Amino acid sequence: MVAIALMFIILLGACQNKQKQSFEVVTTNSILYDITKNIAGDQVKIHNIVPIGQDPHEYEVKPKDIEAISKSDLIIYNGLNLETGNGWFNNALKQANKKINSKEVVAASQSVEKIYLENGKNDDKKVDPHAWLSIDNGVKYAKTIANALIEKDPKHKSIYEQNLKTYTKKLEQLSNQYKNKFNDIDDKHKILITSEGAFKYFSRDYHLNHQYIWEINTEKQGTPEQMKRIIDYIKHHDVKSLYVESSVDKRSMNALSEQTHLPIHGEVYTDSIGKKGTKADSYYNMMKHNITVIHDGMK
Ligand SMILES: [Zn+2]
Repeated sequence: MVAIALMFIILLGACQNKQKQSFEVVTTNSILYDITKNIAGDQVKIHNIVPIGQDPHEYEVKPKDIEAISKSDLIIYNGLNLETGNGWFNNALKQANKKINSKEVVAASQSVEKIYLENGKNDDKKVDPHAWLSIDNGVKYAKTIANALIEKDPKHKSIYEQNLKTYTKKLEQLSNQYKNKFNDIDDKHKILITSEGAFKYFSRDYHLNHQYIWEINTEKQGTPEQMKRIIDYIKHHDVKSLYVESSVDKRSMNALSEQTHLPIHGEVYTDSIGKKGTKADSYYNMMKHNITVIHDGMK
């Protein structure tokens, strides 16, 4: 009996040792998780913090997240004030004893060209975080994530480089395929209205006029002033349809649709990928879906 117990303890010890040897990464949201997964492959263990369908601007950190951050070798976050706007990420890092922008806490957005919020010229607290909604920025995210993986886990460098090459090629093909997608839409109909103003980078790429109910999720959402402003805008423009995001409270957009008699053409994905099996269940698929749905609603 003692011998069996002893063997069990030895086996358990061996398992624990093996677990500790694996490289562990934390991502703050499902989009970063998906991009990281494409580059890291299966040998890396990835813990994602904000679940699919939830808002990464405002999140209540769970004990399991702190635990994962504590023992991780690398933490990938978006940056551009996405996770730090209401402070949840800073608190989580503090509790896990990690430092932001060290070699192990890396902002995926670090090489993109920033777009500021309407009233925030050159103020980094008022920058628009939704840079991933440009596919070309998605390629930049992938490169930054690959570099961070190689820096912290150099012995798998060739795997990360190969995966990066395959993945960025796929994204670049998607970007090229849709470059002129909106050319068949009359300029006056190129108006993209969503709940949150998350499509600044996207609209820059496709030369769209982006309007919204509230500019960023950390603000109050759907106030009477915000509703009045957008209804007034719609009255004076030839808007074809509205769009609602998968990861916001849909009540404001439903109310806007009722009051303006404009249809909600479809669901778009901004701050989260879609659930497994949906048309937007990866970063690649969500971008492809967004472009298609937004284009079709303007016809
Ligand atoms: Zn957002």
